[in-house]
Amino acid sequence: AAFEYAPAPESRSVVDIAPSYGLFIDGEFVEAADGKVFKSISPATEEVLSEVARAGAEDVDRAVRAARAAFGKWSALPGSERAKYLFRIARIIQERSRELAVLETLDNGKPIRETRDADLPLVAAHFFYYAGWADKLEHAGFGAAPQPLGVAGQVIPWNFPLLMLAWKIAPALATGNTVVLKPAETTPLSALFFADICRQAGLPKGVVNILPGYGDAGAALVAHPDVNKVAFTGSTAVGKEIARTVAGTRKKLTLELGGKGANIVFDDAPLDQAVEGIVNGIFFNQGQVCCAGSRLLVQESVQDELLDSLKRRLSTLRLGDPLDKNTDIGAINSAEQLARITTLTEQGEAEGATRWSPACELPSAGYWFAPTLFTNVTQAHTVARDEIFGPVLSVLTFRTPDEAVAKANNTQYGLSAGIWSEKGSRILAVAGKLRAGVVWSNTFNKFDPASPFGGYKESGFGREGGRHGLEAYLDV
Ligand code: NAD
Repeated sequence: AAFEYAPAPESRSVVDIAPSYGLFIDGEFVEAADGKVFKSISPATEEVLSEVARAGAEDVDRAVRAARAAFGKWSALPGSERAKYLFRIARIIQERSRELAVLETLDNGKPIRETRDADLPLVAAHFFYYAGWADKLEHAGFGAAPQPLGVAGQVIPWNFPLLMLAWKIAPALATGNTVVLKPAETTPLSALFFADICRQAGLPKGVVNILPGYGDAGAALVAHPDVNKVAFTGSTAVGKEIARTVAGTRKKLTLELGGKGANIVFDDAPLDQAVEGIVNGIFFNQGQVCCAGSRLLVQESVQDELLDSLKRRLSTLRLGDPLDKNTDIGAINSAEQLARITTLTEQGEAEGATRWSPACELPSAGYWFAPTLFTNVTQAHTVARDEIFGPVLSVLTFRTPDEAVAKANNTQYGLSAGIWSEKGSRILAVAGKLRAGVVWSNTFNKFDPASPFGGYKESGFGREGGRHGLEAYLDV
């Protein structure tokens, strides 16, 4: 039933993608010092969207020097002046949000409904929120005159390209730092459009520098001696490597890494609502979400009823053209990510878990993976332990609240969790025992710029968002 509906595609023509883009250094688009380029492709069609300059170590040095040169004047501006720039950026993002949503959907593969209704409104909200703090830093609870750190080197992943940029750049600028940001190699385009927005907003040259490139450019940025603060979002493996690079320097560091969130459904939960939350928890952005609810923990007595209705709901999900406003499941971001999901799910089957997917036709071009459920899963199974970062849900069961807590916490990660129950007292008691940076109750994947976000354990350290997010960019 996957394709029996009338498609309603968003118009591609609202975004004008140039055939090539440079690096954005000191307010100008420039070629890489060694002239290298790479292609950004659409994961839904494998079509080349643009050719982008690829930053190397020399470009990192150029960009850090531009950010250093801009730091003096930028940090000396009254907070109210920095706020004006941030408000202006936020408004331009709102004005250009349709264009940016289509661009992000083309470059990332996620459904337009998500970029339009989640990514872009949250991107603008983050700039508005931190604009509001820029002239109130002395009231933020960090003492009378907290100071910016200097040049922030920021490295982000591909799953929420523009939103991760906003999480990084908005608090850095509000607190008076200047920025060199490296977007992920599979999704450089929205960061380059953001560079254009900085120019449109009249942001002084050098305050924001954008360096598309691969891991080598990220590593050079992290290691650059004139970077004062490193902010990284990505895999736990790379995060550990970065922690080793930064150890022994005076750089401040925040890491937002992987997750294996538990969505816990008690027998008194509103089950229809829980099904929607489970679907949102693991199939939003094809499950390529660090805080995804990738483990379902269901109380034994309601297991059959819940799984029946979950399977019925999964059979109604529409997979296909991400620009189609009716699409629920878009493309996987890259061939590498698809290969990783495929390998881990094959391992799940080989280890004896039961695999199920709704009947679902996959497009012939591009990178696609059908929504997948694993039942008969034990805590020892790879699909219960490793972050798959795809549309794959592993189902485990429990009898008592203590068992639910023990299983939820039985992971190297600690980023997110969800609790479904009608009993407020139970929700509060269980939430307090979960080792996770965010616990949602009777909902999932809800975000607000005022709320701090970050991990326990190997999910990272430091917090982004909210008042806490300011501290990562200040000497207090
Ligand atoms: P990744 O670690 O491979 O890449 C992330 C970024 O780091 C990319 O820009 C990449 O080019 C760069 N990079 C790669 N090697 C580097 C190195 N040695 N030094 C410096 N930079 C380097 O991760 P990914 O596959 O792009 O993203 C998926 C991962 O990100 C998942 O594990 C997910 O959980 C995590 N993630 C976490 C959060 C969070 O807030 N906790 C948010 C989104 C994604």
